[in-house]
Amino acid sequence: MQLFELIPAASVADAVKAQAASPTAQQGAPVRFIAGGTNLVDYMKLDVETPRQLVDINGLPLDRIEPTPNGGLMIGALARNSDVAHHEAVKAQYAVLSQALLSGATTQLRNMATTAGNLLQKTRCLYYRDTVYGCNKRKPGSGCSAIGGQNRMLAILGTSEHCIASNPSDQNVALAALEASIHITGPKGDRVIPIAAFYTLPGKTPERETVLEPGDLITHVSLPALPAGSKSLYLKLRDRASYEFALASAAVVVKTSGGRIEFVRVALGGVGAIPWRSREAEKELQDKPVSTASFRAAAEAALHDARPQSQNGFKVELSKRCLTRALAMAAAPSTQA
Ligand code: SF4
Repeated sequence: MQLFELIPAASVADAVKAQAASPTAQQGAPVRFIAGGTNLVDYMKLDVETPRQLVDINGLPLDRIEPTPNGGLMIGALARNSDVAHHEAVKAQYAVLSQALLSGATTQLRNMATTAGNLLQKTRCLYYRDTVYGCNKRKPGSGCSAIGGQNRMLAILGTSEHCIASNPSDQNVALAALEASIHITGPKGDRVIPIAAFYTLPGKTPERETVLEPGDLITHVSLPALPAGSKSLYLKLRDRASYEFALASAAVVVKTSGGRIEFVRVALGGVGAIPWRSREAEKELQDKPVSTASFRAAAEAALHDARPQSQNGFKVELSKRCLTRALAMAAAPSTQA
């Protein structure tokens, strides 16, 4: 691991100013914010990230979880994953988020990992983690070793010829289905970005993963109120029951009325280059009968544009079954919200 300087941030303004000195907020940034460190330190040990300065933001007052006046919830960037997962309002109103968080990592990691850190969680692509190999995300222009290589865990939606990495987060899939907004403060002031516009597809620049610019500090994530009577659920399929990333997952929010689907939001995990909101599935489900046929048609629509690689063709059908099952569970009368 490269030597670095640790700078405690005395205020949000101090933190913003310190990171704004970096030429980038993306891969390889020489100045980085650090909070829980569960992801960044991992990659620093591997020399995948080699910042010379870490701006410690743990002392900033950004860990509150509070209701908003319009019935939603505001989650501080530094709120620990465990605290969010076990918060009464999250369990009652946003079960999908609690379930997603509890399906990820271990208790120890969840006790340290933060909401904002999880938003920026890096891919688990083997070649990204090993500096011996070419990897366009880690070193632009060095090629993609995963195409034709070990790609069983990687993405089938939103990929490019330059990168096929999958976004590994469970939290972010739930946030996509919940239509979360990301609150940012930076050198140019404050702004709020819908999660649908926060992540960037790999395209020709896989080293860029979000719209964050130098000095941008995530301060909060806000969740809108869901329609009364809606139910939400996260279903994760993986190689083992714990401490494992998703092969396929589905986050759904469903409200039914009179045997038809009145409101629905769908996001997929384990298969997308970014947390994968499926408007195709939502369109397929809107006002349709609550039935296995409707759910399966939505799953077919969601995976219509899938582009599997040499080792992950199985994800297409797995993801369809995962979404079909998640929708059935969420629409079942006995399912808890
Ligand atoms: Fe790197 Fe992306 Fe290719 Fe993996 S899939 S080797 S992260 S460029």
